[in-house]
Amino acid sequence: MKAKEKPLGLEEAVARIKEQICRITDTEICPLGEEDGRILAEDITASIDQPPFPRSPYDGYAIRSADSMGAGPDSPVVLDVAGEVDAGGWPEGPLAEGQAIRIMTGAPIPEGADAVIKQEDTDYGEETVRIFREMRGHENYIYPGEDYRRGDLLLEKGDYIGPVEAGIIASTGLAEVRVLRRVSAAVISTGDELMYPGEALGPGKIYDSNMYTIAAQLKAWGVAVKKMLHLPDDAGSAAKEIEALAGKTDMIVTSGGVSVGKKDIMHEVFSMLGAERIFWRVGMKPGAAVLAGRYGKTLMLALSGNPYASYVDLHMIVRPALSEFTGTNRLEMIRGTAVLMDDFDKKSPVRRFIRATAQDGRVYIDGHTGGNGDISSGRNINAMVDVPAGSDKLSAGSEVQVILI
Ligand code: AMP
Ligand code: MG
Repeated sequence: MKAKEKPLGLEEAVARIKEQICRITDTEICPLGEEDGRILAEDITASIDQPPFPRSPYDGYAIRSADSMGAGPDSPVVLDVAGEVDAGGWPEGPLAEGQAIRIMTGAPIPEGADAVIKQEDTDYGEETVRIFREMRGHENYIYPGEDYRRGDLLLEKGDYIGPVEAGIIASTGLAEVRVLRRVSAAVISTGDELMYPGEALGPGKIYDSNMYTIAAQLKAWGVAVKKMLHLPDDAGSAAKEIEALAGKTDMIVTSGGVSVGKKDIMHEVFSMLGAERIFWRVGMKPGAAVLAGRYGKTLMLALSGNPYASYVDLHMIVRPALSEFTGTNRLEMIRGTAVLMDDFDKKSPVRRFIRATAQDGRVYIDGHTGGNGDISSGRNINAMVDVPAGSDKLSAGSEVQVILI
């Protein structure tokens, strides 16, 4: 069972997981205010013009552009101020020749007016106003439907709802939208050494950190984390817990216990459950020891135990798998090249991911060097340097592949 299998290439490993995933089709109604990060399950068509009325973009005076002919800094035109309209108000009547209406940003432009002169181009008059420039027809005039028109297709089924999309939905007046149900997951740590934060640390013990990193990351990716727990290195009890959780979640993400040691129980857990094995081990460092499988409909991803290794697995394997559940491409990572600013003194016989900070075409690794078991050196990273298998040491100044995470 634990005999050496040749590690799969990362892309091949991801492709094999994706083959096993069924797209989520269940939908639910989501009240506005809770829609951020969800995937639309319906098209959004505008039921109104936006804006619904001709609107002023400035504080100033609504006028007839024809009345401004000949106005200049030394030859002001004087108009009668016939009223005032504020945002949220409605003009009392149409504008007659020779009149102006004091108007505020966002207020409806009265009928008869075809331009808004900014207050800075006037003497701010109250009874009458002197205007100091000519206005063209429809200058500073926002047409109804200038943003979008009634009947326009604004968003499509499958679109990711981020902040801007949330605003688009709200602007049409919808109080709720139909969305895909969230991907659900359980996050499990394995290890006799693990203690929950808050407990007194016993000899030989450490606090479980992976569970919190993995759960926080999954939530940030829109996953509903239904359960978080850690289990001792006992295959029987782990299998029992997992059996109870499977079927209730789309995905069970575990960490630890997937290498070749005596206590690497996940292999045994898989066989006790009769889970279908998709692969074990991926050709990358860290995070090579990933065991992927399917138990019923539940995807099982058993990640490496070392904190940085499980973090690499999370981005390189769990992240693309998640996209497959919903069909969204918004979790896709941006790849590019950058100039390495620090030396890296190790050879890379297998593909390697190095913690890094990328900025303006440059990538820094100093300050992030640390073992795979270290958690603190991953603080503030925004990228990983993707070093191809067979690479020599890397020198500052060389061009490297970078993945923004
Ligand atoms: P394993 O893959 O189970 O052999 O664990 C590899 C290393 O990662 C060991 O030093 C573990 O103590 C550590 N480790 C495993 N799981 C966790 C966890 N949930 N939080 C922090 N460290 C862990
Ligand atoms: Mg362990």
